[in-house]
Amino acid sequence: MVEPKTEEEIALLRENAILVSKTLAEVGKAVAPGVTTKELNRVAETFIRDNGAVPSFLGFEGFPAAICTSVNDVVVHGFPSDYVLKEGDIVTADIGTLYKGYNGDSAYTFPVGEIDANTRKLLDVTKASLYKGIEAAVEGNRVGDIGHAVQTYVESFGFSVVRELEGHGIGKGMHENPGVPNFGKRGKGAKLINGMTICIEPMVNAGNKSVYLDRNGWAVHTSDRRNSAHYELTVVVRKGHAEQLSTFDYIEKDGKIKF
Ligand code: MG
Ligand code: MG
Repeated sequence: MVEPKTEEEIALLRENAILVSKTLAEVGKAVAPGVTTKELNRVAETFIRDNGAVPSFLGFEGFPAAICTSVNDVVVHGFPSDYVLKEGDIVTADIGTLYKGYNGDSAYTFPVGEIDANTRKLLDVTKASLYKGIEAAVEGNRVGDIGHAVQTYVESFGFSVVRELEGHGIGKGMHENPGVPNFGKRGKGAKLINGMTICIEPMVNAGNKSVYLDRNGWAVHTSDRRNSAHYELTVVVRKGHAEQLSTFDYIEKDGKIKF
């Protein structure tokens, strides 16, 4: 049984969610051909610390950086490095904050310069599938309704959903119960209750769903080496309509990223 959050707790989670959303936008402004993923990490860490928060991923189970930067065939958990982004790449920034004892966690896949049409489609479908999941995150539904909504939408475009990784509850812990898979059956899994705070985060492959773990023990790659996209938002389960805590508005309304 997962306890719903109090409105006081939700307010603190909202502060984190807004900070993470703004941090993603700062990273988005820096994404360009010729920029290293280490530089994206620096931009994010500086912005988070300047706002009085801590990058929660740094040191988490030994993770070596402030954010995850996952390029092209890397699904999640890529290490920022000296890799230089090039035109046509995609890069996912996954960012966590710890502020006033609560967590923020959101992710966004950015195009680097011009990308090919199928990759553009992969990004659009993955992001749209996240909103399908959010629509299902209402009191009375179950976790399986979210997964089902994401999966059926993604698969209708011929893309595939990664099974090994999932969304999660969020609060004082970065990852709390319940797990929120991106596939599933309607009416199955944990019940959604008003005030539950969850991160929904579809990870979608252009090719097949199979993935493998890098030798570094962190980065998850697609087995067919085709691209993978990942978008994540934090929401509060409510009656009738989920309340979004984090947002992509800071990224998409500055006019740089075209949608
Ligand atoms: Mg995340
Ligand atoms: Mg997450």
